[in-house]
Amino acid sequence: MDFSLTKEQVELKEEYKIFAQKEIAPIAFYVDEKAQFSFDSLKKLAEIGFLGLVYPKEYGGQGKTLLEAIIAVEELAKECPSTTLSCGVSSTLFAYHIFNFGTNAQKEKYIPKVIKGEIIGAWALTEPEAGSDAASITTTAIKKNGNYIVNGTKIFITNAPIADVVIVMAKTDPEKGARGISAIIVEKDSPGFNRGITLDKMGFRGLQVGELIFENCTVPEENLLGKEGLGFLQAMKVLEQGRVAVAGVGVAIAQACLEESVTRSNKRIQFGKPISNFQLIQQKLSDMKVRIDASRLLTYKAACLISNKKPCAVESSVAKLFSTETANFCANEAVQIFGGYGYIKKYKDRYKIERMYRDAKLLEIVEGTSEVQRMIISRHLTR
Ligand SMILES: Cc1cc2nc3c(=O)[nH]c(=O)nc-3n(C[C@H](O)[C@H](O)[C@H](O)COP(=O)(O)OP(=O)(O)OC[C@H]3O[C@@H](n4cnc5c(N)ncnc54)[C@H](O)[C@@H]3O)c2cc1C
Repeated sequence: MDFSLTKEQVELKEEYKIFAQKEIAPIAFYVDEKAQFSFDSLKKLAEIGFLGLVYPKEYGGQGKTLLEAIIAVEELAKECPSTTLSCGVSSTLFAYHIFNFGTNAQKEKYIPKVIKGEIIGAWALTEPEAGSDAASITTTAIKKNGNYIVNGTKIFITNAPIADVVIVMAKTDPEKGARGISAIIVEKDSPGFNRGITLDKMGFRGLQVGELIFENCTVPEENLLGKEGLGFLQAMKVLEQGRVAVAGVGVAIAQACLEESVTRSNKRIQFGKPISNFQLIQQKLSDMKVRIDASRLLTYKAACLISNKKPCAVESSVAKLFSTETANFCANEAVQIFGGYGYIKKYKDRYKIERMYRDAKLLEIVEGTSEVQRMIISRHLTR
């Protein structure tokens, strides 16, 4: 066990830190305020190679490990969690599903375009009546004359309003429960593909999230990913990696909150001293640091397991659970350390912790709530 990053990983971290400060930070407040996705940032993230970090060079990727991708995520999400997650859903959930379960033709068709930022992908499992109980989805995909006819509604789908192509989990055999679910690629121009409403949100406001409505939506049968009936298992595998990425965003938010809190508590004078002199503030800073270090180690461990093709279902849930709760803990403590200045959007200066506080909450909900992560972990312990 060697806990130090390699020289290349340290250089990558520095490269992404400089990039994030120069290209992502300046528009992060605008992205939040206007609830806008930045296509310009997508282009720049494609140019720096972020969208293809973990994919092989033959697809235009960088051939790096998931650990390296998490290091990049940490630097980007410290400045703008929204932009990082939007691009991450396309390059992680969507592209990773195709990379792992698609045919060569499907990989060649979609992965290079995602990596170049030419197309945006979405990944649609959740439905109005099927959230945590994902196996109870009712969207159907019935085979007819060489096509799948898809019917149903998906909700809370990241990138739904802007996606060019979506992986839809649907029942090809509604009698078989989870074993009747298949994953199907649906392009935006398919007849019967409709974007529903775009949702307004508390945080992660730059993330474009909405409904997708399929009304006799017709796609060729070669759009099936893998085999019929394996879609749910595929989705669970994809979420293992997705949860590690969400854990990385959690580490980033927590770290950003700590850094802002240290700077602020050294500067803010009350009772004639910087507030960092007070033990109650020192305790907050040290508790944040301890949880962040533990979150980062758990996240890096899960990332390494996935890169080494080792089982990771429990470890990715552990990392996601702890890191996202740490992000919320740190955002809460940061706002407390800033006092009234933490609660308002702007007075002379503008502090990102108000945004981070709103952003952090989502991480405990997406890609399986904290309760679902606890269920996965305890099921493993007691089976
Ligand atoms: C901004 C945003 C982006 C999203 N992006 C995507 C996306 O790209 N693709 C996608 O498919 N989905 C996406 N989701 C959906 C997300 O994964 C779900 O919201 C999440 O899985 C929870 O489902 P739910 O909201 O229906 O809550 P519910 O499942 O209704 O849960 C409500 C509460 O009950 C708890 N609960 C449920 N079952 C149990 C149980 N057995 N034991 C204990 N507690 C339980 C939950 O933990 C939660 O606290 C997104 C959601 C949001 C808000």
